[in-house]
Amino acid sequence: MHCLAVEGLPEVRPGDDLASLIEERCTLHDDDVVCVASTVVSKAEGRAFDLSAFPASERARSIAARLEAISGDEKDPRFAQAVLEESETLVMEAPFLLAATRFGHVAPNAGVDRSNVPDSDLLLLPDDPMASAERIRSNLDADASVVVTDTCGRPFRHGQTGVAIGYAGIPATRDWRGETDRDGHELEVTNESIVDELAATANLLTGEGDDGVPVVVIREFEFGDHEGSEHLFRDASEDLVREALQEWTFSDASDAGSATEGSQ
Ligand code: GDP
Ligand code: MN
Ligand code: MN
Repeated sequence: MHCLAVEGLPEVRPGDDLASLIEERCTLHDDDVVCVASTVVSKAEGRAFDLSAFPASERARSIAARLEAISGDEKDPRFAQAVLEESETLVMEAPFLLAATRFGHVAPNAGVDRSNVPDSDLLLLPDDPMASAERIRSNLDADASVVVTDTCGRPFRHGQTGVAIGYAGIPATRDWRGETDRDGHELEVTNESIVDELAATANLLTGEGDDGVPVVVIREFEFGDHEGSEHLFRDASEDLVREALQEWTFSDASDAGSATEGSQ
Protein backbone atom coordinates (compact mmCIF):
# COMPACT_ATOMS: atom_id res chain seq x y z
CA MET A 1 0.00 0.00 0.00
CA HIS A 2 1.33 3.48 -0.88
CA CYS A 3 0.22 6.87 0.38
CA LEU A 4 0.72 9.84 -1.90
CA ALA A 5 0.25 13.45 -0.79
CA VAL A 6 -1.35 15.54 -3.55
CA GLU A 7 0.91 18.60 -3.71
CA GLY A 8 0.15 22.06 -5.00
CA LEU A 9 -3.57 22.37 -4.32
CA PRO A 10 -4.65 26.02 -4.07
CA GLU A 11 -6.66 27.66 -1.31
CA VAL A 12 -10.07 26.12 -1.99
CA ARG A 13 -12.95 28.49 -2.78
CA PRO A 14 -16.74 28.10 -2.80
CA GLY A 15 -17.88 26.33 -5.96
CA ASP A 16 -14.49 24.72 -6.69
CA ASP A 17 -14.65 21.29 -8.31
CA LEU A 18 -12.41 19.23 -6.02
CA ALA A 19 -12.34 16.25 -8.38
CA SER A 20 -10.75 18.27 -11.17
CA LEU A 21 -8.43 20.15 -8.79
CA ILE A 22 -7.18 16.72 -7.68
CA GLU A 23 -6.95 15.08 -11.11
CA GLU A 24 -5.10 18.12 -12.54
CA ARG A 25 -2.31 17.40 -10.04
CA CYS A 26 -2.34 13.63 -9.74
CA THR A 27 -3.05 10.78 -12.16
CA LEU A 28 -5.41 8.56 -10.25
CA HIS A 29 -5.66 4.82 -10.78
CA ASP A 30 -8.88 2.86 -10.60
CA ASP A 31 -9.22 1.44 -7.05
CA ASP A 32 -7.27 4.30 -5.45
CA VAL A 33 -8.79 5.62 -2.24
CA VAL A 34 -8.82 9.43 -2.34
CA CYS A 35 -8.91 10.86 1.20
CA VAL A 36 -10.08 14.46 1.26
CA ALA A 37 -9.96 16.64 4.40
CA SER A 38 -13.45 17.90 5.24
CA THR A 39 -11.94 21.37 5.55
CA VAL A 40 -11.60 21.68 1.78
CA VAL A 41 -14.90 19.92 1.10
CA SER A 42 -16.57 22.49 3.35
CA LYS A 43 -14.77 25.38 1.66
CA ALA A 44 -15.83 24.14 -1.78
CA GLU A 45 -19.41 23.79 -0.53
CA GLY A 46 -19.50 27.36 0.80
CA ARG A 47 -19.61 26.38 4.48
CA ALA A 48 -17.31 29.19 5.73
CA PHE A 49 -19.11 31.90 7.71
CA ASP A 50 -18.40 34.85 9.91
CA LEU A 51 -19.61 34.84 13.50
CA SER A 52 -22.00 37.65 12.57
CA ALA A 53 -24.05 35.04 10.65
CA PHE A 54 -25.01 33.49 14.01
CA PRO A 55 -26.84 36.01 16.21
CA ALA A 56 -26.87 34.37 19.63
CA SER A 57 -30.09 33.05 21.11
CA GLU A 58 -30.74 33.11 24.85
CA ARG A 59 -29.69 29.48 25.06
CA ALA A 60 -26.38 30.12 23.22
CA ARG A 61 -25.69 33.03 25.56
CA SER A 62 -26.24 30.93 28.65
CA ILE A 63 -24.13 28.03 27.31
CA ALA A 64 -21.28 30.42 26.45
CA ALA A 65 -21.47 32.16 29.83
CA ARG A 66 -21.25 28.84 31.63
CA LEU A 67 -18.30 27.65 29.51
CA GLU A 68 -16.57 30.97 30.12
CA ALA A 69 -17.03 30.62 33.89
CA ILE A 70 -15.69 27.05 33.82
CA SER A 71 -12.68 27.69 31.58
CA GLY A 72 -11.82 31.27 32.49
CA ASP A 73 -11.46 31.94 28.74
CA GLU A 74 -13.64 34.29 26.77
CA LYS A 75 -16.38 32.44 24.85
CA ASP A 76 -18.28 34.05 21.98
CA PRO A 77 -22.00 33.20 22.27
CA ARG A 78 -22.22 33.33 18.47
CA PHE A 79 -19.84 30.36 18.30
CA ALA A 80 -22.18 28.45 20.65
CA GLN A 81 -25.05 29.47 18.36
CA ALA A 82 -23.25 28.06 15.29
CA VAL A 83 -22.68 24.78 17.17
CA LEU A 84 -26.36 24.65 18.22
CA GLU A 85 -27.47 25.19 14.63
CA GLU A 86 -25.15 22.41 13.41
CA SER A 87 -26.34 19.97 16.07
CA GLU A 88 -29.17 17.53 16.09
CA THR A 89 -28.64 16.98 19.82
CA LEU A 90 -26.15 18.19 22.39
CA VAL A 91 -24.60 15.23 24.16
CA MET A 92 -22.77 17.49 26.67
CA GLU A 93 -23.07 21.23 27.33
CA ALA A 94 -20.14 21.48 29.77
CA PRO A 95 -17.22 21.50 30.32
CA PHE A 96 -17.24 21.63 26.52
CA LEU A 97 -19.87 21.25 23.82
CA LEU A 98 -20.17 17.72 22.50
CA ALA A 99 -22.75 17.45 19.76
CA ALA A 100 -24.29 14.95 17.41
CA THR A 101 -24.57 16.34 13.90
CA ARG A 102 -27.61 15.67 11.74
CA PHE A 103 -25.61 13.10 9.78
CA GLY A 104 -24.72 11.11 12.92
CA HIS A 105 -21.17 12.17 13.79
CA VAL A 106 -20.56 13.03 17.47
CA ALA A 107 -17.81 15.63 17.86
CA PRO A 108 -16.72 18.50 20.08
CA ASN A 109 -18.41 21.69 18.84
CA ALA A 110 -20.23 19.67 16.14
CA GLY A 111 -16.94 19.77 14.21
CA VAL A 112 -17.15 23.56 13.74
CA ASP A 113 -13.57 24.59 13.00
CA ARG A 114 -11.65 27.80 13.50
CA SER A 115 -8.32 26.71 11.95
CA ASN A 116 -7.26 26.88 8.30
CA VAL A 117 -10.10 29.29 7.41
CA PRO A 118 -8.25 32.41 6.23
CA ASP A 119 -11.16 34.57 5.07
CA SER A 120 -13.89 33.77 7.61
CA ASP A 121 -14.29 33.11 11.32
CA LEU A 122 -15.74 29.61 11.12
CA LEU A 123 -15.93 26.55 8.96
CA LEU A 124 -18.87 24.20 9.39
CA LEU A 125 -18.62 20.53 8.44
CA PRO A 126 -20.23 19.55 5.14
CA ASP A 127 -23.98 19.27 5.52
CA ASP A 128 -24.04 15.66 4.27
CA PRO A 129 -20.51 14.25 3.96
CA MET A 130 -21.76 10.95 2.46
CA ALA A 131 -23.30 12.96 -0.38
CA SER A 132 -20.12 15.05 -0.66
CA ALA A 133 -18.02 11.89 -1.02
CA GLU A 134 -20.40 10.51 -3.64
CA ARG A 135 -20.33 13.79 -5.60
CA ILE A 136 -16.53 13.98 -5.62
CA ARG A 137 -16.32 10.32 -6.63
CA SER A 138 -18.77 10.74 -9.49
CA ASN A 139 -16.80 13.76 -10.80
CA LEU A 140 -13.52 11.81 -10.92
CA ASP A 141 -12.45 10.30 -14.24
CA ALA A 142 -10.87 7.34 -12.44
CA ASP A 143 -13.01 4.69 -10.76
CA ALA A 144 -11.62 5.54 -7.33
CA SER A 145 -13.28 5.64 -3.94
CA VAL A 146 -13.46 8.71 -1.75
CA VAL A 147 -13.19 9.17 2.02
CA VAL A 148 -14.01 12.56 3.57
CA THR A 149 -11.98 12.96 6.75
CA ASP A 150 -11.91 15.15 9.82
CA THR A 151 -9.62 15.30 12.82
CA CYS A 152 -11.41 14.31 15.97
CA GLY A 153 -10.58 13.52 19.58
CA ARG A 154 -11.52 10.22 21.19
CA PRO A 155 -12.89 9.33 24.60
CA PHE A 156 -10.53 7.31 26.84
CA ARG A 157 -7.40 8.31 24.90
CA HIS A 158 -5.24 11.38 24.55
CA GLY A 159 -4.71 12.86 21.13
CA GLN A 160 -6.77 13.35 18.01
CA THR A 161 -6.77 11.21 14.87
CA GLY A 162 -8.20 11.39 11.39
CA VAL A 163 -11.64 9.80 11.14
CA ALA A 164 -14.02 9.28 8.24
CA ILE A 165 -17.21 11.33 8.20
CA GLY A 166 -18.27 10.30 4.70
CA TYR A 167 -17.22 7.75 2.11
CA ALA A 168 -18.22 6.47 -1.30
CA GLY A 169 -17.19 3.51 -3.41
CA ILE A 170 -15.89 1.51 -0.45
CA PRO A 171 -17.66 -0.18 2.47
CA ALA A 172 -17.27 1.44 5.91
CA THR A 173 -16.02 -1.73 7.51
CA ARG A 174 -14.64 -5.13 6.72
CA ASP A 175 -16.27 -7.78 8.73
CA TRP A 176 -14.08 -10.47 10.27
CA ARG A 177 -16.92 -12.17 12.10
CA GLY A 178 -17.14 -15.83 11.26
CA GLU A 179 -13.48 -15.93 10.15
CA THR A 180 -10.84 -17.62 12.29
CA ASP A 181 -7.72 -16.44 14.09
CA ARG A 182 -4.41 -18.32 14.09
CA ASP A 183 -5.68 -20.77 16.70
CA GLY A 184 -8.77 -21.59 14.72
CA HIS A 185 -11.03 -19.60 17.08
CA GLU A 186 -13.94 -17.97 15.34
CA LEU A 187 -13.99 -14.16 15.55
CA GLU A 188 -17.26 -13.01 17.03
CA VAL A 189 -17.17 -9.21 17.20
CA THR A 190 -14.43 -7.78 15.01
CA ASN A 191 -15.87 -5.49 12.35
CA GLU A 192 -12.94 -3.29 11.34
CA SER A 193 -13.67 0.33 10.48
CA ILE A 194 -11.44 0.60 7.44
CA VAL A 195 -12.64 4.07 6.44
CA ASP A 196 -11.49 5.40 9.82
CA GLU A 197 -8.16 3.60 9.42
CA LEU A 198 -7.69 5.02 5.93
CA ALA A 199 -8.60 8.50 7.24
CA ALA A 200 -6.07 8.21 10.06
CA THR A 201 -3.43 7.02 7.58
CA ALA A 202 -4.10 10.02 5.33
CA ASN A 203 -3.94 12.33 8.34
CA LEU A 204 -0.31 11.29 8.88
CA LEU A 205 0.48 13.13 5.64
CA THR A 206 -1.98 16.04 5.82
CA GLY A 207 -0.92 17.16 9.29
CA GLU A 208 -3.02 19.76 11.10
CA GLY A 209 -1.27 23.00 10.31
CA ASP A 210 -0.01 24.91 7.31
CA ASP A 211 1.27 22.01 5.16
CA GLY A 212 -1.37 22.70 2.52
CA VAL A 213 -1.97 19.00 1.91
CA PRO A 214 -5.71 18.30 2.21
CA VAL A 215 -5.75 15.29 -0.15
CA VAL A 216 -3.94 11.97 0.16
CA VAL A 217 -4.24 9.11 -2.29
CA ILE A 218 -3.98 5.59 -0.90
CA ARG A 219 -2.96 3.17 -3.62
CA GLU A 220 -3.16 -0.63 -3.61
CA PHE A 221 -5.05 -0.92 -0.37
CA GLU A 222 -6.39 -4.47 -0.39
CA PHE A 223 -9.81 -4.95 1.11
CA GLY A 224 -9.33 -8.71 0.93
CA ASP A 225 -11.93 -11.43 0.85
CA HIS A 226 -14.38 -10.18 3.48
CA GLU A 227 -17.91 -8.98 3.79
CA GLY A 228 -18.32 -5.23 4.12
CA SER A 229 -20.89 -3.16 5.95
CA GLU A 230 -22.19 0.38 5.73
CA HIS A 231 -22.34 1.15 9.44
CA LEU A 232 -20.09 3.96 10.62
CA PHE A 233 -22.10 5.93 13.20
CA ARG A 234 -23.90 4.14 16.01
CA ASP A 235 -27.63 4.80 16.25
CA ALA A 236 -28.34 6.90 19.35
CA SER A 237 -30.78 4.23 20.53
CA GLU A 238 -28.03 1.59 20.79
CA ASP A 239 -25.19 3.80 22.04
CA LEU A 240 -24.81 3.20 25.80
CA VAL A 241 -21.90 5.61 26.23
CA ARG A 242 -23.76 8.44 24.54
CA GLU A 243 -26.84 7.73 26.64
CA ALA A 244 -24.80 7.78 29.85
CA LEU A 245 -23.11 11.04 28.88
CA GLN A 246 -26.41 12.64 28.03
CA GLU A 247 -27.71 11.82 31.51
CA TRP A 248 -24.55 13.04 33.26
CA THR A 249 -24.13 16.66 34.35
CA PHE A 250 -20.88 18.46 34.85
CA SER A 251 -20.65 20.49 38.01
CA ASP A 252 -17.84 22.42 39.56
CA ALA A 253 -17.27 25.44 41.74
CA SER A 254 -17.82 27.93 38.93
CA ASP A 255 -21.30 26.46 38.34
CA ALA A 256 -22.17 27.55 41.88
CA GLY A 257 -21.25 31.12 41.00
CA SER A 258 -17.74 31.16 42.41
CA ALA A 259 -14.99 32.70 40.28
CA THR A 260 -12.51 29.86 40.83
CA GLU A 261 -10.77 28.20 37.93
CA GLY A 262 -12.64 25.28 36.36
CA SER A 263 -11.62 21.88 37.64
CA GLN A 264 -11.00 18.95 35.34
P1 GDP B 1 -9.55 18.98 8.90
O1 GDP B 1 -8.80 17.85 9.57
O2 GDP B 1 -10.46 18.52 7.80
O3 GDP B 1 -10.26 19.88 9.88
O4 GDP B 1 -8.46 19.91 8.15
P2 GDP B 1 -7.13 20.61 8.72
O5 GDP B 1 -7.44 22.02 9.12
O6 GDP B 1 -6.47 19.74 9.72
O7 GDP B 1 -6.25 20.65 7.39
C1 GDP B 1 -5.77 19.45 6.77
C2 GDP B 1 -4.70 19.79 5.74
O8 GDP B 1 -5.28 20.56 4.69
C3 GDP B 1 -3.54 20.64 6.28
O9 GDP B 1 -2.35 20.21 5.62
C4 GDP B 1 -3.91 22.06 5.84
O10 GDP B 1 -2.77 22.91 5.70
C5 GDP B 1 -4.55 21.79 4.50
N1 GDP B 1 -5.53 22.79 4.01
C6 GDP B 1 -6.61 23.29 4.63
N2 GDP B 1 -7.30 24.10 3.80
C7 GDP B 1 -6.63 24.10 2.61
C8 GDP B 1 -6.85 24.73 1.34
O11 GDP B 1 -7.83 25.45 1.11
N3 GDP B 1 -5.94 24.48 0.36
C9 GDP B 1 -4.84 23.66 0.56
N4 GDP B 1 -3.99 23.45 -0.45
N5 GDP B 1 -4.61 23.05 1.73
C10 GDP B 1 -5.51 23.27 2.75
MN1 MN C 1 -11.92 19.87 11.21
MN1 MN D 1 -7.10 18.01 10.61
